[in-house]
Amino acid sequence: MERVFDGHNDVLLRLWRGRANGSDPVAEFVNGTSEGHIDGPRAKAGGLAGGLCAIFIPSPGEFALKEPDANGHYATPLEAPLTRPPSLDIALDMASIALRLDRAGAWRLCRSTAEIRKAMDDGVFAAVMHMEGCEAIDEDLDALETFYAAGLRSLGPVWSRNNIFGHGVPFAYPMSPDTGPGLTAAGFELVKTCNRLGILVDLAHITEQGFWDVAKTSDQPLVASHSNVHSLTPVARNLTDKQFDAIKESRGLVGLNYAVTMLRDDARDDAATPLSDMVRHVDYMVERMGIDCVALGSDFDGATIPAEIADASGNQNLVAALRGAGYADQDLAKICRENWLRVLASAWHE
Ligand SMILES: [Zn+2]
Repeated sequence: MERVFDGHNDVLLRLWRGRANGSDPVAEFVNGTSEGHIDGPRAKAGGLAGGLCAIFIPSPGEFALKEPDANGHYATPLEAPLTRPPSLDIALDMASIALRLDRAGAWRLCRSTAEIRKAMDDGVFAAVMHMEGCEAIDEDLDALETFYAAGLRSLGPVWSRNNIFGHGVPFAYPMSPDTGPGLTAAGFELVKTCNRLGILVDLAHITEQGFWDVAKTSDQPLVASHSNVHSLTPVARNLTDKQFDAIKESRGLVGLNYAVTMLRDDARDDAATPLSDMVRHVDYMVERMGIDCVALGSDFDGATIPAEIADASGNQNLVAALRGAGYADQDLAKICRENWLRVLASAWHE
């Protein structure tokens, strides 16, 4: 079984929601559940050895993609910006779930690649605390220091929603990722501070202008943790060839997003999406950037994923499909974990 260290999941969001309904996040993770995609037993069964676990502040109400028109096109408007309270409270709650899971031994909250490798060797899920959209962080970045101390080692300045640091892309098809402005002045400071502290900066969800703003500011490899190929699936969330070229030049990476809306030709929210669509996006990225710049970023617990994977326990079905498409063991090791470990080691000044 090929061990996978994955670039993006929303298990903390699911556990936080479960907690609001009275369930114990530690018990849910340890004992397993039929809800969502990731828990300890299903991760183990699918060789999902670890990953970046997002603190994400949901917008009020149920998120839904806009219904496609007669041509299959849709443009879901951006969610409204959030206020800092209650965003900070929610972020603290999710961080506390991550810390409680660590204390209980349900997973290990890792702050170095040596800790990630040790946890994987020990058969314990290697979690890295990530923040997807920085609504919980103040403009003077004081809270960033606090979250760093709590284990935060990766962040995306924005989700698909604008905030004080920058602008996000909508969920829209077909649409270019060049949908508006990029980083704000505070956003540029955020990137520089992340570079200094040793926090990875994630480019998923940011506008194309924001991507170039980070590219000219950051001293680290460019990373899009869960994004796919715009020329195959032209949603605003996917990356253009020019963006891939910049990522390659920086020796960064892109994590393949399993979200069916970002894999299919028609960008429909339909779980009946074949593994061949995933392989096609991986092939394209490998051809464009090379084997060192392609990784995985499942979006488990955050999106509709192909039925042939279904949840974390089916993760090896993708690995098998890639092997069937001709990827050798050493290629699979890079895609499945080594590329992530390389860029994390750089971002963390190891
Ligand atoms: Zn996302």
